[in-house]
Amino acid sequence: MNWLKKIMIGRYGIDQLSIALLIVYLPFSLAAEVIRVNWLNLIALAPLAICYFRIFSRNIVKRREENRKFLVWWYPFKSWFNRNFSRIKDIKDHRYFQCPSCKQKVRVPKGKGNIRITCPKCRTQFVKRT
Ligand SMILES: [Zn+2]
Repeated sequence: MNWLKKIMIGRYGIDQLSIALLIVYLPFSLAAEVIRVNWLNLIALAPLAICYFRIFSRNIVKRREENRKFLVWWYPFKSWFNRNFSRIKDIKDHRYFQCPSCKQKVRVPKGKGNIRITCPKCRTQFVKRT
């Protein structure tokens, strides 16, 4: 692996944008193989080529700025996914209700019977079965 270290000296390497480009490449590549359309293969190769270009690029400042812009764009999707994924993990122990007046989502423990829930945002109280 010493040869790889020597090649990578002064080059940018892998970041989140490179990984995202690989993830974009995979379904296009699979689709191109399954339906056997040549131009789709060319489209599939574009993100892969950009990914390799970025990994071996020596313009580290520019690649870092591209990655920063990508992360700013990606953050809302990531936080939405994390929020919903943690809710799926939590579904065994908690229930989620929506406040009738302000639509705030409220998390309460499961298996407590009928409970009076106080909305943390607007202090409205409502009764729900957990
Ligand atoms: Zn409320």
